[in-house]
Amino acid sequence: MTKNCQFSFWELQSFSQYDYVVVGSGIVGLSTALSLREKHLNASILVLERGFLPTGASTKNAGFACFGSATEIFDDLQVMPPEEVFELVQMRWEGLQLLRKRLGDKAIDFKNYGGFELISEKEKYILPEINQINTLIEPLFKAKVFQENKHKVAEFGFKKTDTIIENSYEGQIDTGKMMRALIELAISNKIEIKTGAEVVDIQENGNNVLLKIKNIAFELKAKNLIICSNAFTKSLLPKIDMFPGRGQVVITKPLKNLPFKGVFHFDKGYYYFRNFGNRVIFGGGRNAFLKQETTTDLECTENVLENLYQKLSEIILPGKEFEIEHFWSGIMAFGNTKQPVVEQMSKNVFTAVRLGGMGVAIGSLLGKKVVETFEL
Ligand SMILES: Cc1cc2nc3c(=O)[nH]c(=O)nc-3n(C[C@H](O)[C@H](O)[C@H](O)COP(=O)(O)OP(=O)(O)OC[C@H]3O[C@@H](n4cnc5c(N)ncnc54)[C@H](O)[C@@H]3O)c2cc1C
Repeated sequence: MTKNCQFSFWELQSFSQYDYVVVGSGIVGLSTALSLREKHLNASILVLERGFLPTGASTKNAGFACFGSATEIFDDLQVMPPEEVFELVQMRWEGLQLLRKRLGDKAIDFKNYGGFELISEKEKYILPEINQINTLIEPLFKAKVFQENKHKVAEFGFKKTDTIIENSYEGQIDTGKMMRALIELAISNKIEIKTGAEVVDIQENGNNVLLKIKNIAFELKAKNLIICSNAFTKSLLPKIDMFPGRGQVVITKPLKNLPFKGVFHFDKGYYYFRNFGNRVIFGGGRNAFLKQETTTDLECTENVLENLYQKLSEIILPGKEFEIEHFWSGIMAFGNTKQPVVEQMSKNVFTAVRLGGMGVAIGSLLGKKVVETFEL
């Protein structure tokens, strides 16, 4: 008869106990770990990631450095008090500044080409509301952010578009470079990251939290556990108010004479596209297939890809030849409100989760917020 002797005395001594364990190595998990390090120079900090790479949204997104289009902000104003809407925009804006400051514009390839919203007949109701939205967010930007610019429709060559709302505050990043820079910064700050480590069970035990990792007969002990697993959090905290939303994205091969640069939104932000050099990255359409796309399965489906291809041909690149080079999907998290969940779940367990479609913006700030709010 054999006995389990997989781990040595030394391994148990040196690798099984941490001051802080963070679940998930997306932008929130890594930012949380970095905020912990800024506060505790000598603490032991471990980030556990289930995937070979971060496997949620942070390495899968479109790289918009955005804070909400005019129609999205207007929609929010219909269901939320103006102070809360302002607070959301503020969180996104301040989160972006923190990300840029922490990593540097060069490392994330930040480009400030501006943001544009395509307005068709059915969204023209927004035009008389622009002043109201500008007034709401003026204290943050010290300027009138949104302006109609009809000339851009012809300049950019779009069809099925009546006018454009422009703002010069939105930018774009290289998502892969941003996440690589974040991982490198974490490692250089003595933050341990273990991949292929899916946390399957957590138990409070006195002043510690005990964690079980899938297929590994090793129990980890953390003084504090911060769950940053976003759309996948229900497997650890079944009662949390959250549902997943899949986003599918395509990228074209480089085009000759692409007539636009910037980040673009239409249909209240449900569709989004941008240039990446001379290519177009285009994603969205979740609203047209809501039931199907309420899933954590990282797959692409023919119906969504066809819909994206059709909109590329008819609205974004009409009359131009283009080829799709690659496509992929990622998973976001949504709930009854747009506010992320930053909560203390029990004595030593905390969460910073439920980031929807603007987590690049909010992510860094959320890490800071969970550390500050609960004095971790
Ligand atoms: C297609 C798409 C396009 C997007 N475009 C933009 C954009 O242009 N701009 C923008 O601001 N936002 C965008 N977003 C949203 C943004 O990417 C997310 O809001 C943000 O990345 C969420 O970060 P996170 O760290 O909370 O979650 P995630 O990046 O999902 O990280 C959670 C991590 O936890 C890991 N994990 C889960 N469960 C466990 C477990 N039990 N044990 C260990 N690890 C676990 C996962 O593998 C994952 O790596 C987009 C999202 C998608 C899907």
